[in-house]
Amino acid sequence: MSLIEGRTGEWEVVIGLEVHAQVIAEAKLFSGAATAFGAEPNTQVSLVDAAMPGMLPVINEKSIEQAVRTGLGIKAQINRYSVFDRKNYFYPDLPQGYQISQFSDPIVGKGEIILDMPDGESRTVGITRIHLEQDAGKSLHDQDPHSTYVDLNRSGVTLMEIVSEPDMRTSAEAAAYVTKLRAIMRYLGTCDGNMEQGSLRCDANVSIRKPGEALGKRCEIKNVNSIRFLQQAIDYEARRQIEIIEDGGAINQETRLFDANKGVTRSMRSKEDAHDYRYFPDPDLLPLTLTEDYIARIKESLPELPDEKKDRFVADYGLSQYDAGVLVSERAIADYFETAAKGRDAKTAANWITSDLFGVLNRQGLDISEAPVTAEHLGGLIDLIGDGTISGRIAKDVFDDMVESGKDAADIVAEKGLRQVSDTGEIEAIIDGIIAGADNQVMQFRSGNEKIIGWFVGQVMQQTQGKANPKIVNELLRKKLAG
Ligand code: ADP
Ligand code: MG
Repeated sequence: MSLIEGRTGEWEVVIGLEVHAQVIAEAKLFSGAATAFGAEPNTQVSLVDAAMPGMLPVINEKSIEQAVRTGLGIKAQINRYSVFDRKNYFYPDLPQGYQISQFSDPIVGKGEIILDMPDGESRTVGITRIHLEQDAGKSLHDQDPHSTYVDLNRSGVTLMEIVSEPDMRTSAEAAAYVTKLRAIMRYLGTCDGNMEQGSLRCDANVSIRKPGEALGKRCEIKNVNSIRFLQQAIDYEARRQIEIIEDGGAINQETRLFDANKGVTRSMRSKEDAHDYRYFPDPDLLPLTLTEDYIARIKESLPELPDEKKDRFVADYGLSQYDAGVLVSERAIADYFETAAKGRDAKTAANWITSDLFGVLNRQGLDISEAPVTAEHLGGLIDLIGDGTISGRIAKDVFDDMVESGKDAADIVAEKGLRQVSDTGEIEAIIDGIIAGADNQVMQFRSGNEKIIGWFVGQVMQQTQGKANPKIVNELLRKKLAG
């Protein structure tokens, strides 16, 4: 189990996540302004986004479609009737004085996400809902010593708020949840999942309890922007709560922030309640109604998603659950694998990708799309091993060369004369020469020291620069030494 040891015995950590995912769309939720990241401040702001008096919101259909796609991707119920509400609060970067969001009738209802844990286990986390809402602008505190500036580029951009059930029990599960959710949205093309750019932000709700007890009071850690920080924040927060309770204190429900430099969470404000926001249906927007036909058409357009792809990789290619899980984690990796494995031994291809290729990508800090060896070239290398042109050991050198030069495996083998020696006559002559000068080792072999054969193999490889076909070398050596 995943319990934490305290002074008074074991504690269970309970985690529920709220993920804000920026929808991939050319325009904002209720205006036609652009949404590109990194634009000059206040260059992507329509009069609606700036909340000029008399402006009216007009819904962008693409945002609706993306929310429905995401809902279908997590096998959730799509609500044919949903309502946009005003969530009222004051903030300098919220010129409307309210955020348009969905409260009692969200567009997507209950769904689920399957976590693939590193130990090979899977766990299911319930999704409570997905609702659509507007993002706020951004206050810039670092431009001037005395003033704060406001950038409204993000104001009105479409966000999906994806709320989970309090189903997670460790920070590792929370990390696996965000990783999986992000993978699904990337497959679907509904959110780019870029946490550094803020397209995916995460609020972590954390409480603790003695196993079997009712849920404890939670604290919500706001706006965590990396998966590593999410894990650190949860671990710190669980410890903090355990210490307070074990010292006889009580947890205040509050909103906290994670300080990544110090690795601690800090109180930001005591928890507001829904009634503080005075939600009411936005009078400028009609309830949203979807037809079955509209939902069915979106469903038909969904790509194969990670869970299905993983099952197919296990069934069709005979991969382990673990390897299949790693390969489907990104669509581009899965595509790379299928290209390299086509018509070849799939396990060999999987091994080359997960150990050798990933090793290079990690060392060089590259994404799969920037891989220095193409899937076709890796396939070519696997062919050369398969048909005996090169040995597995030489293949490692050829691979390194491919990384360096970007060349085709066959060209490297030809240029460098790395073709494996499989000519039995040639190998036999070399073996005869070695045996003639190695009376001592021959005697050892014949008196039962089987292991000494390794020494003979080493000699043959040395004389052939590693190019002798190891299978043939072994066969011939045994024959000759026995004689
Ligand atoms: P709010 O919008 O006020 O933050 P919600 O009821 O929507 O409140 O819940 C937010 C998140 O908190 C959900 O992800 C839910 O799973 C999680 N949650 C609720 N109760 C607990 C708890 N006791 N411990 C941990 N997480 C919780
Ligand atoms: Mg919340």
